[in-house]
Amino acid sequence: MSRAILPGSMVNGQPATLGVMGGGQLGRMFVHAAQAMGYFTAVLDPDAASPAGRVSHHHIQTDYLDEQGLAQLMQRCAAITTEFENVPAPALMTLGAHRPVAPASESVAIAQDRAAEKAHFVRCGVPVAPHAVIETAEQLGAVGDDLLPGILKTSRMGYDGKGQIRVKTREALAAAWGQLKNVPCVLEKMLPLQAECSVIVARGADGQMVNFPVQLNLHRDGILAVTSVYEGAVPADQAAQAVAATRAIAEGLNYVGVLCVEFFILEGGQLVVNEMAPRPHNSGHYTMNACDQSQFELQVRTLAGLPLTQPRQHSPAIMLNLLGDLWPEDTPVMSISKGPTSPAWSQVLALPGTHLHLYGKLSARPGRKMGHLNITGATPEAVRATALQAAALLGIEAF
Ligand code: ADP
Ligand code: MG
Repeated sequence: MSRAILPGSMVNGQPATLGVMGGGQLGRMFVHAAQAMGYFTAVLDPDAASPAGRVSHHHIQTDYLDEQGLAQLMQRCAAITTEFENVPAPALMTLGAHRPVAPASESVAIAQDRAAEKAHFVRCGVPVAPHAVIETAEQLGAVGDDLLPGILKTSRMGYDGKGQIRVKTREALAAAWGQLKNVPCVLEKMLPLQAECSVIVARGADGQMVNFPVQLNLHRDGILAVTSVYEGAVPADQAAQAVAATRAIAEGLNYVGVLCVEFFILEGGQLVVNEMAPRPHNSGHYTMNACDQSQFELQVRTLAGLPLTQPRQHSPAIMLNLLGDLWPEDTPVMSISKGPTSPAWSQVLALPGTHLHLYGKLSARPGRKMGHLNITGATPEAVRATALQAAALLGIEAF
């Protein structure tokens, strides 16, 4: 990626167009950021109602491995990114042979596989949870007792706590592996967590790298519920370590794009890396309202080869995830005929510093990410007070 793709320019006889593999909410927010800068956009996603497809200039509605779909995407786009890590690596390789693709298929392939990911962390000198790779019955039998109680996680395709089983005994471990259909897994020792945090960096093809501040994350049922970002939310020591580790991990991949790394802070204060996402991340959504550049703007910049400057957080912030649980189950979200099915938006938006983001999904299911609410304010105390009021109005458990 030697030359920048300038916004509003013509590339190969068409308006500069940025493409994204996947049409979920992350793709939608990427599209919004790209369009705000003057780019045209193209989304490849099989779903006619995909959140990103509905707001993009072009929506190529095919499977991710469809040759014609990929050819169309390449024809339209000057450069292509991805919005979910499970996009098939071969599709990214095909695209990468003809167009700048960021992140590269090699980085995505490592992030798609927990075992490869952990090996990369170890190579970068960042501590990981004690773990064992389980791909064969022999490996299952050889697992040390020191890894129990533990969490058995599928190596591939897990997200939001899916594909994970907590096990206390060897018998439970064997049963759990069967339940996961004996696919390749990683068994991780259950660690005593004091807190969880994450760091987002953006790195350009020229090696320039910038980072957002460290985010404190609260998960419920394996799904991110609340992200808090302000001075002191994460102790300065661990925050500095987390930023340094994330930068080392990105550097070690020769990464291009936006990368999020999640960490555990153990009781006692030790920092352990958990996993990474080769894309913008749910824990970075606060940047849309609390920073002078959002994680999606940085994704656009890294993809287009534009300069990067260190983002500045101008307001303390809390993000509340809005899951499908906030709507009556199976109620069409846009329904107006069925009475009051919406959460209490009017009351929530009457609170100072509230910013609502909904992803345009047409139906709600428990655990489904429907949107998020960013809360900004002058002080951490003010933000917290407002966030707790909003949570109470929405029926989100206090934190
Ligand atoms: P996912 O890919 O679904 O996000 P994670 O590996 O991040 O999977 O696990 C989801 C959540 O489960 C974590 O955010 C953390 O709260 C908890 N968890 C995962 N691994 C461990 C562990 N080794 N010890 C304690 N808690 C864990
Ligand atoms: Mg996770």
